[in-house]
Amino acid sequence: MFAKDNTTTTSAQDFPIVYDRAEHNISRKELSDNALKVLYRLNKGGYDAYLVGGGVRDILLGEHPKDFDIATNATPEQIKKLFRNCRLIGRRFRLAHIVFGRDIIEVATFRGHHDSAEEKQTKAHSKQSEHGMLLRDNIYGSIDEDAERRDFTINALYYSIKDFKVYDFANGVSDINDKVIRLIGDPETRYREDPVRMLRAVRFATKLDMQIEKNTEAPIRELSSLMANIPAARMFEEYLKLFLGGKAQVNFHRLADYDLLQYFFPHISQSVKTEPNGNAVKFVDRVLFNTDKRINEGKRVTPAFLLAAVIWYKLEQSYSALMANSDIAFQDAFFAAMNEIMGEQQRCIAIPKRFQQPMKDIWFLQQKLMRREGARAFKVLEHPRFRAGYDFLLLRGEIEGGELAELATWWTNFQEAPADTQQQMVKSFKGSRTTRRRSPRKRKNTGSPS
Ligand code: ATP
Ligand code: MG
Repeated sequence: MFAKDNTTTTSAQDFPIVYDRAEHNISRKELSDNALKVLYRLNKGGYDAYLVGGGVRDILLGEHPKDFDIATNATPEQIKKLFRNCRLIGRRFRLAHIVFGRDIIEVATFRGHHDSAEEKQTKAHSKQSEHGMLLRDNIYGSIDEDAERRDFTINALYYSIKDFKVYDFANGVSDINDKVIRLIGDPETRYREDPVRMLRAVRFATKLDMQIEKNTEAPIRELSSLMANIPAARMFEEYLKLFLGGKAQVNFHRLADYDLLQYFFPHISQSVKTEPNGNAVKFVDRVLFNTDKRINEGKRVTPAFLLAAVIWYKLEQSYSALMANSDIAFQDAFFAAMNEIMGEQQRCIAIPKRFQQPMKDIWFLQQKLMRREGARAFKVLEHPRFRAGYDFLLLRGEIEGGELAELATWWTNFQEAPADTQQQMVKSFKGSRTTRRRSPRKRKNTGSPS
């Protein structure tokens, strides 16, 4: 066993601590049928196969894992031969997905070291960037090497259904008991290899209610700029994990503390620095709180709502500035500001198209909800995304109060009112035009706020 206190570097051990069946709480009952099927099939095919990562960690913590990851000594091609429902994915990190309808079991071949002579002959399988980032990680190895390539000690635990033992290569069980997030190896090197590990440290600390060990925590701020090298598509995946897992609010603030937030949301992260008590930050904080609440109550949330919220104040500020400085119509100013800000946002996290339109609809609805005269209110009520737009307005009203809060209350009452009262509400409403209008002219920008 290695000493924990007098080293700054935690290495994985060649010889694991082995916990017998009676010494841990993992049993086959805790695994999904599909995970068991994959483990049995790999074993029957003559390969070693273990449940690893979050599956083992979460069961040891008394939680129900959200998915099951498997590690094996079979190569991706050998795995593919065993399973008809197998898809090989990934370039940077080649994996097999065994697909059971909507349930996917991820099977990874044991990873090996990167500095062996063999690797030098196999450049195609491994590649590093000038920043030390691993661009490809497809050198295969033994189980102890695999353990060393994993991120945190608590994620390097392996459970076998052959002997029902837990194999602990990096003192992960002890860190689980102590509630410590500790990187395996030299923290700086490990963050340079893959800067996303900084995000994972934050996520596991909040999700599992654990402390990030001091050597694991120390380099984060200094190395945060490495995040700029992460592809925007991967950042979107991390956005989903950090912000739609029920811990969005605390993750947001922790990321800001570590200077990591700007790589997700460049605009609001600036406001957190300059105006931490301003309405923009208060609004986003409220939305984060609500998002967590909905998720923890088992309600549905769309990733678009929070994304619309983190950009909203910047958008408002930009189109207002455009309108103040030139004789531009509201619509033109709005589209110009939106295109620019969305462009900046997209360079950080690649928001899939299917979420971009809902974001825009929520924003357009903020304008539409201000116009209640005539038949307009009824038309807005029928908008397919009325609910999201209204919820958004409600939260804005809670932060800003005043006219905006009154407007939100009007819509609350309007929705609940019987038909004749609704007619009255619209008729008695005088209507005030808050937008500046110019004589109509052709819009240059694309898209339509309908
Ligand atoms: P959860 O699925 O609950 O978010 P997890 O630990 O299972 O947590 P996954 O992203 O599913 O996380 O990854 C499975 C395992 O793969 C991890 O437990 C870890 O051992 C390893 N792993 C994942 N990402 C990395 C990484 N960036 N660097 C090193 N190892 C990683
Ligand atoms: Mg997992």
